[in-house]
Amino acid sequence: VKEYLKQIKAHARLNVFNEVFEQDALAAAKNVDARVKAGTAGRLAGMVIGIKDNICYKDHKVTASSRILENFTSIYSSTIVERLLAEDAIIIGRCNCDEFAMGAANENSFFGPVKNFADETRVSGGSSGGSAVAVQAGMCHAAIGTDTGGSVRQPASFCGVVGFKPTYGRISRHGIISYASSFDQVGTLTKSVEDAALLLEIMGGPDEFDGTLSRKELPKAEAHKPDNGKKKIAYLQEAISSPGVDAEVKNTLINAIEKLRADGHTVKPISFEYLDYLVPSYYILAMAEASSNLARYDGVHYGYRSPNATDLISTYKLSRSEGFGKEVKRRIMLGTFVLSAGYYDAYYAKAQKVRKLIRDQTNAILGEYDFLLTPTAPEPAFPIGKKEKDPVVTYLYDIFTVQASLAGLPAISLPRGNNSKGLPLGLQLLAKGFAEEQLLNFSEYFL
Ligand code: GLN
Repeated sequence: VKEYLKQIKAHARLNVFNEVFEQDALAAAKNVDARVKAGTAGRLAGMVIGIKDNICYKDHKVTASSRILENFTSIYSSTIVERLLAEDAIIIGRCNCDEFAMGAANENSFFGPVKNFADETRVSGGSSGGSAVAVQAGMCHAAIGTDTGGSVRQPASFCGVVGFKPTYGRISRHGIISYASSFDQVGTLTKSVEDAALLLEIMGGPDEFDGTLSRKELPKAEAHKPDNGKKKIAYLQEAISSPGVDAEVKNTLINAIEKLRADGHTVKPISFEYLDYLVPSYYILAMAEASSNLARYDGVHYGYRSPNATDLISTYKLSRSEGFGKEVKRRIMLGTFVLSAGYYDAYYAKAQKVRKLIRDQTNAILGEYDFLLTPTAPEPAFPIGKKEKDPVVTYLYDIFTVQASLAGLPAISLPRGNNSKGLPLGLQLLAKGFAEEQLLNFSEYFL
């Protein structure tokens, strides 16, 4: 813990932690130490973990990097925090993120952007940017993030770490601040795939507080081992043919394909019929769900209340106007619009139908192949401030990650070295629902 605290202090300018639980972590380390000596320690004894600042931890602040929750203290712990602590993990602090997990660059945080440790003038990726850099810069052993449309995988690829999102329904969302509930999933940022497997087993599984959880058996961390079998892998042809994908990103994919073939795997190009509809349907649905989930921040129940309010209506209006940032407001407005009586059928209902087509076609591909291989993001980390002004440009960055989210499938971003500017690159591997064990075992091939 002391070593990680030293790293956190040395790299404070990266803006990774919204709060460091220094005293708590030191006290926890003493307790764990005693249990190790007594032979009663849990399976994560001494694993120092950072949690994204949208994960509730009893008696600790949780802000979702928003002004509206700036002084909010959680009165209970999320199921995942309870499960981590029960196995003697040590939680070292809460990591900066995009406000309410909305973003792909960590530039939408009320507390400012997180800087990439590989190049401090560049973004960390988002929305779990703080969690990614915490692992990248050695500020903790592993970090927990959430992935609604790529928020674990994309920052992992920008920061050169492993980012894993399990199947929807694997890990409890109880005590995770909701963004888009039919997509939100807890994920991990780690240096190794083995750690991702261990954390999945510890955090996953049924929980009476989340009715969407599957009862399918969780993969055992002990079963994690490199898989040397021959696989059938599809890759997205458009990732190579599209002018929107960076040349070095393409080369990373091409090199991986050539190596896989040379090693005897079957690798074939596929075209995804609904490629152009991935980003639009994701954003329509995610914004609709967000507008509904964020209705609870009304200046009355909890969180920020405007001191300028004079009656109920002005309490709502001013608290929300002053409490939410620009991107969150944009999404609430667009989400409310697509759900409104006159536009529901044209946008929300249509997007739900498209989601079903996307899910069915993705499952059909994975019926024929073991995995789908794509870049994680079309470009490496970009300079801070470069894309902020055009939200649509940033939304398009999610093209490769939202497919797994729309289909509810497990996916992982694996580091594949650096480009010519020293910026990390990543590839994404997507698997069938609940095939985490196969996904994680085969991921070792790429490391
Ligand atoms: N970039 C996507 C968005 O802004 C994904 C965010 C996430 O996964 N939380 O919605």
